[in-house]
Amino acid sequence: MPFIPLSNNHPNQNNIWRKVFYQLNIIGQCRQYNIPLLQCPNFLFPLMGAIIIAVMIISYLVASQFIADPRIIISIIAGTTIFLLIISFIIIKSFEHLVIINKMKNEFISIASHQLRSPLTSVKWILELFQKDELGKLTPEQAEYLRILNENNERMIHLVNNLLNISRIETKNIKIEKKPIKIKSLIDEIVKNAQIEALPKNIKIEVKTSSHIPSTIKTDKNKLEIILQNLIDNAIKYSHQNGQISIRFTYPRSTIKIEIKDNGVGIPEKEQNYIFQKFFRAANATRRQITGTGLGLYLAKSITEALGGKISFKSKEGAGSTFWIELPSK
Ligand code: ADP
Repeated sequence: MPFIPLSNNHPNQNNIWRKVFYQLNIIGQCRQYNIPLLQCPNFLFPLMGAIIIAVMIISYLVASQFIADPRIIISIIAGTTIFLLIISFIIIKSFEHLVIINKMKNEFISIASHQLRSPLTSVKWILELFQKDELGKLTPEQAEYLRILNENNERMIHLVNNLLNISRIETKNIKIEKKPIKIKSLIDEIVKNAQIEALPKNIKIEVKTSSHIPSTIKTDKNKLEIILQNLIDNAIKYSHQNGQISIRFTYPRSTIKIEIKDNGVGIPEKEQNYIFQKFFRAANATRRQITGTGLGLYLAKSITEALGGKISFKSKEGAGSTFWIELPSK
């Protein structure tokens, strides 16, 4: 069962009823945060609203029917105000609790991914020495085992880098450094890496570049590479054996548009609204046991927006997907 976030999602207009249903499903939302109902702001806010309304009506009825002495009315109102203040205090404390947990989670992810990066990089370095036969000639069987080891190590490095970048984004520690970069060398580099990755599945990668494209663009090369690496990785991962991927570079409305199209498994229509959510994975991806974490697209979207651009996609289950980004070129 895929994880379907109940809050912080952005369903399309045609899904307005679904959105309304999620907002009304307060118990479901609180369960998702994994905290008791009485510490959950989503529950405490409407509870407080209901108590305020009830208290106002009761005070009015009691005061108008039975109490003539204004001092008693004032005491009742003061008492209920204190009661409401206590509930407000609990709500604020529950928010504080959530903020502290979130901060601790971000710190933990940041420290853990930093610590994991160095051993993984040294494993990569030693594997490279073996693969280049610099530590002695390998038998074909040993070379195959090392290839698998290297592939898994690369996957771990990719995951750790994604986690680190997400924690930077969430703590607003991401630095964007825009510099002029040569579009031609960027394209060559991206395609070269994609072709190596696509080799085991015998996927054909085709590149199309519009003639109107400028020779340089001003952007953060490193961040752009993270976005494209995630989108191309996905196109390869969710493609069938002998699939076809096309990468297109165009220049509409003075923006650089990079489009990655595959003819792979596609995304089921009813799950398309959640695709950029953190940890979301579509049912057809998990059913086919394609490995993943549901972090790549969340990261790609966050970084694209940090670069002042937009990310979008269209997809049909069983037919394939096209993801594209549009970035300001200056
Ligand atoms: P991951 O691929 O690690 O699961 P992502 O955040 O990159 O995480 O993608 C989220 C989900 O979106 C994937 O699990 C998959 O269901 C779907 N998805 C992304 N890209 C594609 C694609 N090119 N084709 C089909 N499904 C895709």
